[in-house]
Amino acid sequence: MAAHAESFRQRNITRPLLKWVRSVLPAMSDTEREALAAGTVWFDAELMRGNPDFSKLLDMPVPRLSDEEQAFMDGPVEELCRLIDDWQITFAERDIPKAIWDCVKSRGFLGLIIPQEYGGKGFSATANSAIVMKIASRGPSAAVTVIVPNSLGPGELLMLFGTDKQKSYWLPRLADGREIPAFGLTSLDAGSDAASMTDHGVVAWGEVNGKKTLGMRVNWSKRYISLGPICTVLGLAFKLSDPDHILGDEENLGITLALIPTTTKGVSIGRRHYPGMQAFPNGPNTGTDVFVPMDWIIGGQERIGQGWRMLVTALAAGRGVMLPAMSVAGMKVAAFSTGAYGRIREQFNLPVSRFEGVQEAAARIASDTYKMDAARRATLAALDAGEKPAVISAVMKYHATEAMRRATNDAMDIHSGKAVIDGPRNYLSSAYRAIPIAITVEGANIMTRSLMIYGQGSIRCHPFIQEEIAAAQMSDDDEAVAAFDRVLYRHAAYTFMTLVRAAWRGWTFGLLSRAPVHGREAPHYRQIKRLSAALAIVSEFSMVTMGGALKRKEMISARLGDMLSHLFLACAALKRFADTGRPAEDWPLCDHAVRTSLNAADTALKEVIDNFPMRLVGWYLRLKIQPFGVICSTPRDRLAQKVSDTISEPTAARDRLTEGIYAAADIELGKLDHAFRLTAELEPVRAVMRKARVRSVDEARRQGLITGNEAARLSEAMELVREVSKVDDFAPEEITGKKPAARKRKAA
Ligand SMILES: Cc1cc2nc3c(=O)[nH]c(=O)nc-3n(C[C@H](O)[C@H](O)[C@H](O)COP(=O)(O)OP(=O)(O)OC[C@H]3O[C@@H](n4cnc5c(N)ncnc54)[C@H](O)[C@@H]3O)c2cc1C
Repeated sequence: MAAHAESFRQRNITRPLLKWVRSVLPAMSDTEREALAAGTVWFDAELMRGNPDFSKLLDMPVPRLSDEEQAFMDGPVEELCRLIDDWQITFAERDIPKAIWDCVKSRGFLGLIIPQEYGGKGFSATANSAIVMKIASRGPSAAVTVIVPNSLGPGELLMLFGTDKQKSYWLPRLADGREIPAFGLTSLDAGSDAASMTDHGVVAWGEVNGKKTLGMRVNWSKRYISLGPICTVLGLAFKLSDPDHILGDEENLGITLALIPTTTKGVSIGRRHYPGMQAFPNGPNTGTDVFVPMDWIIGGQERIGQGWRMLVTALAAGRGVMLPAMSVAGMKVAAFSTGAYGRIREQFNLPVSRFEGVQEAAARIASDTYKMDAARRATLAALDAGEKPAVISAVMKYHATEAMRRATNDAMDIHSGKAVIDGPRNYLSSAYRAIPIAITVEGANIMTRSLMIYGQGSIRCHPFIQEEIAAAQMSDDDEAVAAFDRVLYRHAAYTFMTLVRAAWRGWTFGLLSRAPVHGREAPHYRQIKRLSAALAIVSEFSMVTMGGALKRKEMISARLGDMLSHLFLACAALKRFADTGRPAEDWPLCDHAVRTSLNAADTALKEVIDNFPMRLVGWYLRLKIQPFGVICSTPRDRLAQKVSDTISEPTAARDRLTEGIYAAADIELGKLDHAFRLTAELEPVRAVMRKARVRSVDEARRQGLITGNEAARLSEAMELVREVSKVDDFAPEEITGKKPAARKRKAA
């Protein structure tokens, strides 16, 4: 009976449905398939499936540094930070000074991710993030010298895929700085679509040390390569072919990765780009008819053609560490400095941080910093637990760099002229110029948002789609029908349940869902559950109605990606609040951060529904899951003011928010902080003077409004404020580089 019923079902339902699925499945290149398979899924799957089990996030241990890692932070990291003078690097020398390179090499900064058995530090993702965050808070150029060797590049690829011989030779040399690595993927034709590169190798015989050797003749022309102009070993991606069939029948062997010493004949490096006026070495390089022996292929000959998979596997984790650390550093500097500067800078006889317009921008900085640092910590917890969360890493890459851009813009606006005038006293403008670099590298942001986050998330996190795609791609029709049949009905049941759940939560404002905690956090968890169910069902409808066309409907998929991202960011903020012991002072930061993300997710849902290509489906979805429109509103003004106050006063919340940056007493940030703390401490004295309408300290002293000691401290504070409010000026020749006489002659 069962077999008969099954075959009837298979013939009349499953088979036609399979035919339809095959017709709408997007054409997928091998590179896309490999990108989709890279890494693991983690809490992103909970959010995409509509009924998140929060314990999978909340129970993750809080990331901590080991004693050895902490000692490295206290020793070499502090030492390196003391050496960094960003103005000297970016303006005076336009290069990374030798003292910094010496420190980076001798103290082991080039081998942070390399295991100890190979002479590296073997640090956790948490430690690497903390190290980069502190260095980046001193200046982006110096940070790149540490970021590049410890993110996607020869080191990581060797560790993941290298042969034992390659690892034993290269890793110790990379760890102790004998070798400087770079990785060349991008070329003139191939940017975002890196797999379309024309850099090319041909399998050929050559001669090495007088011995006939099998290898490849490779020609390339790469650009934008960080550390490329000075690297001693270049990781290179190229397409390999075998037209003479030396290796076998196949002609086009695919993208292959090799490690090429830059002293090899035919390799040309040295010329430099000047990206965003940053001074880290970055430039083009070429190879002309370079003979590359087979054993220079990373992983050896058997890894021919696997280059793309190797790259995306490495990126699946790496994207979640370095750029987010650098971005959060920029945000912490923005919060630290803007809170302080807004408090000490007075106009109209009031600190500018008291003006509502300034508070609105300062609140954005503070709450985004809280949220992105929370997301950084949550991602590190996953990475250190062995996950390689490809989708969350893409979320982090996009949102951390965008949040840094917003925070730095707001910080620049609030500092106004003080941030615009360049010079050694300016602690913001270098980061401002470097932001587009972070936005562009490791997957340019527009593409990351529009294509990658939801594109990967929708398939990787779905409980059934991958099985269905695998069935649809089977060549044997009967086997395909049987396999498709096994998953189809479970998928249908899941869709029905998700629809009911989304409608129930939509019509009850999410209020009846169970939250994992009681108290003021609970309503936020309920909204996350409501929006997660909505995301799951809109995602189902999108895939069913648009099929392969969804890949081109980037405005829809970007918004679905925004929903996923903001739900993750909101969860991360709530986890951080719980992990840090729920300090009452931090609640406004957490509350503002979560509300902002929930509003963004709810708004994205509305916009997807408003723009749903099949209007009838759009109306149906609105009726079912968002009947009352956007119900998660933006944070109230009063809350924004409280958030602004947390960074405009020397609160414990401000200290927690900005911990991990370098702000020693003798650098501009440290001096600003000192002026800020003294100013805040003397506020009661200033209040007495304001009440008496006396502006002069001497006059207040004469009238007996303040004591002699108070007068002295006020004068000290005012002097400090004047000092940190100053900007730089230069003799004209210091800027133009022209001698004064030559300038006068030209003017005449
Ligand atoms: C300072 C710097 C350092 C770098 N370091 C390295 C390095 O060390 N090694 C290396 O190999 N490369 C490096 N790169 C290259 C970097 O990874 C590329 O710049 C990046 O991949 C984007 O390529 P592109 O600049 O050619 O932009 P394009 O690919 O031309 O993209 C242009 C725009 O189109 C958008 N776009 C493209 N495709 C899509 C799509 N399908 N959907 C939506 N939007 C899309 C992009 O988001 C972008 O906004 C570096 C670049 C810079 C600027």
